[in-house]
Amino acid sequence: MKVNVMSDILKANDLLAKDIETLLGKKGIVAWNIMGSPGAGKTAVLERSIPMLTETHGVAVIEGDLATANDAERIARTGVQSSQINTNGACHLDAAMVRTAMETIDLDTINLLFIENVGNLVCPAGFLLGEKGRIIVSSITEGDDKPEKYPSMFSTADLVLMNKMDLVSSTDFREEYFRKGVKKLRPEADIIAVSARDGSGLREFVDWITEHSRVSP
Ligand code: MG
Ligand code: ZN
Repeated sequence: MKVNVMSDILKANDLLAKDIETLLGKKGIVAWNIMGSPGAGKTAVLERSIPMLTETHGVAVIEGDLATANDAERIARTGVQSSQINTNGACHLDAAMVRTAMETIDLDTINLLFIENVGNLVCPAGFLLGEKGRIIVSSITEGDDKPEKYPSMFSTADLVLMNKMDLVSSTDFREEYFRKGVKKLRPEADIIAVSARDGSGLREFVDWITEHSRVSP
């Protein structure tokens, strides 16, 4: 019985996500669902990349968190529109939350929307939000076995960012092992090593976004 209820919730969510995707498509906006553990550096990567992205794109960010507006405030300081969703305990975003947050964003001035999910490597994977694709920020300090431990999330990634590469010499992180773990679950995923702290790899990330955000005619 419980299983049926859950699958109905997911079905309703996916229908609404489809509506969001259609609406964004009409406006020429591409959305990316940013996922990862708490503290992986999702907000930091966005903060540091937005000044490069806004050279060529109109950007807005929806921030999902259990509590506080800290991350939306950090994003707002970069000068782009940001909207905070507080999930009040829910450990993932759903399409209805995103749809509500979108009402606070001027969609006519953007063509790129980042949706930063609640920090969690499990259930965000089950909820479509109207995104074109999914980006996982995985910090190397979390260990190189995260893909194999969280297959449902990593198997849906279009791009995986290995963040905090500036710390690699202080850890036992095996880059090749991590890469193999991702590729086993999702052969077509791209993987980029970055550091939101020293900025390395972020130009490559920005180029990836630009390349993959072209709206097909
Ligand atoms: Mg954050
Ligand atoms: Zn959840």
